[in-house]
Amino acid sequence: ANSMNSLISNESSSHSKGQTREKSAPPPEVPLAEDKRQEPEFNGSQLKEVLENEIIESLQGVDKTAAKQIFAEIVVRGDEVHWDDIAGLESAKSSLKEAVVYPFLRPDLFRGLREPVRGMLLFGPPGTGKTMLARAVATESHSTFFSISASSLTSKYLGESEKLVRALFAVAKKLSPSIVFVDEIDSIMGSRDNEGENESSRRIKNEFLIQWSSLSSAAAGNTHSNADGDDDERVLVLAATNLPWSIDEAARRRFVRRQYIPLPEPETRSAQLKRLLSYQKHTMANEDFLELLNLTDGFSGSDLTSLAKDAAMGPLRELGDKLLLTPTELVRPITLDDFKSSLNYIKPSVSQEGLQKYEDWASKFGSSG
Ligand code: ADP
Repeated sequence: ANSMNSLISNESSSHSKGQTREKSAPPPEVPLAEDKRQEPEFNGSQLKEVLENEIIESLQGVDKTAAKQIFAEIVVRGDEVHWDDIAGLESAKSSLKEAVVYPFLRPDLFRGLREPVRGMLLFGPPGTGKTMLARAVATESHSTFFSISASSLTSKYLGESEKLVRALFAVAKKLSPSIVFVDEIDSIMGSRDNEGENESSRRIKNEFLIQWSSLSSAAAGNTHSNADGDDDERVLVLAATNLPWSIDEAARRRFVRRQYIPLPEPETRSAQLKRLLSYQKHTMANEDFLELLNLTDGFSGSDLTSLAKDAAMGPLRELGDKLLLTPTELVRPITLDDFKSSLNYIKPSVSQEGLQKYEDWASKFGSSG
């Protein structure tokens, strides 16, 4: 129902700008709950389909099948991440607020000189929260979130991928404000001298760059329009990569902001570990946390999550089959020793040399601050 509401509210905002409705569907002004009460046989997924079809019909020059696929596979709603769910990364958060969230919420303030960027790249080692940040941006900016992985855009049928890319941007404009989040952008924006690049990936890349440029030029022509005039153009490409150095130079330049998402600092690791343990019985005192922080130097956010999950299993493992008969309150708390034994086989996923490569790229191409 949540996702329906967001679809409806997006719909209603575009209609309130004076566009005509061609098909009869439940008026967007009517809250979903009322719709349900009046027409119990008209369930949520049918309503969603009616709205989807209506949107797809209204798109000019867009392949209908491709647009359907965009709706079916790519539009993600209702799966919310908030700023507070993400430990640390304060400078990345404030950079994303300034570049995306505030402009989306107050388009009237961000015109002309203050026109928001159309692309932002989050780069850094795997498991450092890039995907979480993108999700939080979508939640906090009340945008429709399109989460794309390279594999959902690549089709073995000639020309299909380009149709998908065109449909993606068309639907994103229609449901704006929108965030098009492309994870592992390097796999569709790889540089030309990459051995893996073939004709079809070149075509996807070109189409993506063309569609993306069409956003910027439309927006540039709109800088003098009134406050709600260019709502359709509030579409931002947010991308993430663990391999920033393999991105094509032309594509790299299009990402005006390139935000480094580094491995977590000790304070960030501490905050994340405390949050992970907050619903569990444990004996971790402050000095235990300090010791654990030293032991987890070089761990990414996802490494820490794996470690904490494994350590939390310690007390249960010990029980063996008795686990089935042991009352919850008699399960012993998690201790520092549980973490220490998990550390024997849960290791940081990024090596020192690997890390250096990110630092080097960040100082060469990253946006400072
Ligand atoms: P990336 O996109 O950088 O590879 P993700 O955002 O997918 O990483 O993070 C993977 C998992 O690691 C998350 O689902 C979360 O459990 C954990 N994680 C990573 N960074 C953080 C963070 N800063 N705060 C909280 N959890 C994190």
